[in-house]
Amino acid sequence: MNKEELWQTVLSEMELEISPTHFATWFKDTSILSIANKRAEIAVPNNFAKEWFANKYHKLIFKILKGNIKDLKKIDYVTVGTSHPAFPQKKETSPVFRNANQLQFQESKIDKKTNLNPKYTFDNFIVGSFNELAHAAACSVVQKPGQVYNPLFIYGGVGVGKTHLLQATGNKLNQKKELFNIKYTQAEKFSQELVQAIRGKSMDKFKEKYRSLDVLIMDDIQFIGGKEKTQEEVFHTFNSLYEKNKQIIFSSDRPPSAIPLIEERLRSRFEGGMIADINYPDFETRLAILKSKSSEKGLDINEEILSSIATHIQKNIRELEGALNKVAATNHLNGDSLGKDDIKIILRDFTCSMKKTTTPKKIIEAIVDFYDVKMTSLSDVTRKKEFVRPRQIAMYLLRKELNLSYPSIGEKFGKRDHTTAIHACEKIKKELENNESLNEEIYRVKQLIYG
Ligand code: ADP
Ligand code: MG
Repeated sequence: MNKEELWQTVLSEMELEISPTHFATWFKDTSILSIANKRAEIAVPNNFAKEWFANKYHKLIFKILKGNIKDLKKIDYVTVGTSHPAFPQKKETSPVFRNANQLQFQESKIDKKTNLNPKYTFDNFIVGSFNELAHAAACSVVQKPGQVYNPLFIYGGVGVGKTHLLQATGNKLNQKKELFNIKYTQAEKFSQELVQAIRGKSMDKFKEKYRSLDVLIMDDIQFIGGKEKTQEEVFHTFNSLYEKNKQIIFSSDRPPSAIPLIEERLRSRFEGGMIADINYPDFETRLAILKSKSSEKGLDINEEILSSIATHIQKNIRELEGALNKVAATNHLNGDSLGKDDIKIILRDFTCSMKKTTTPKKIIEAIVDFYDVKMTSLSDVTRKKEFVRPRQIAMYLLRKELNLSYPSIGEKFGKRDHTTAIHACEKIKKELENNESLNEEIYRVKQLIYG
């Protein structure tokens, strides 16, 4: 058996032993590099996988290999980078441990010329089935900017890694000598700059700045929906760059077809290259992200706690990080003795990650249910406290959970004025700052909403 066949044997046996998601996540991009002197070298795509293999799969792999190579004594896992030739990874292990101070320091190191933040790299971007299309597309763009996918349009929900991927792409492209002029911007920033340029009569300068780029990266392009002047400028900037084969990368919280109030000609430009989505990570990937982040931050948190966080926080990677920080801090203060239930409590604040799955109807029904009031009494003119309070909380939740406009919130409760809605939301928000029982109350209502 040659080493390819041998590895194939290992793969087929592993596939039977572990879950399909685990298998897909960890065994993609692996191979046997060499077998010599009773020692096998297994290639894995990154340092994180290396650690994971050594801790999780080593025994099994060893057993399977040993079944085929009788005198096998040792297995080493070696990082060789992914299958993307754009990223031949360094052979030496890059330090995953960085302390918090260094991270903060990096935070402020945004490059003035490119607006890129060096903390976002491909090395610290974890790839799983939820984002592999977007990742692969970005890698292709790095290899052949302006040639393969132009524009590259990445979309996905809040906190799933769009900005990270865009910036990592920019940082990688910035290492190329032939690309002098790379710029990352947010669509909102671009729009503000445009307004200033119009006011300050410096449009020529503004145009020159963006149309002379080698790579333009524009984040959160959905922002330009309904903004005619900005759309026009994006359109002309796009055309000017595109004609010169300059790479353009966009991100958005939704696909081009779903961005409201956007000109057709612009939409068709967005759709003219490659559109790749980023989904929400599955449990295994969430756990992988948590592990990577905690080692990056130099935190020492046990697997059970990480797995508990991964269970509670189901979507957003930003929240995952926030939850990790919070748990780490509390765990530290408590002498590393937190249990599962403690963690549940700590993670309450983060349950808002379920936000997207509710509707005004569900919120109002939950209020009706919890406070045992009639739907109609929420809309009545009555100012009785037993109705006013639930109504205010309902308004607050409609605003907080769904970001409804104040006029539309007022409208829902017997056509009240928007100022009433504003007043209610402010009042509840203020009270929440130091009213524990109200916090608890709202938490219960939320449980009903998202239950
Ligand atoms: P978005 O722009 O989609 O709202 P971000 O790119 O800001 O999301 O990501 C939120 C946080 O999660 C950032 O701190 C980012 O570094 C981290 N993150 C997102 N995706 C990944 C990933 N695949 N691997 C590691 N960290 C990630
Ligand atoms: Mg973003």
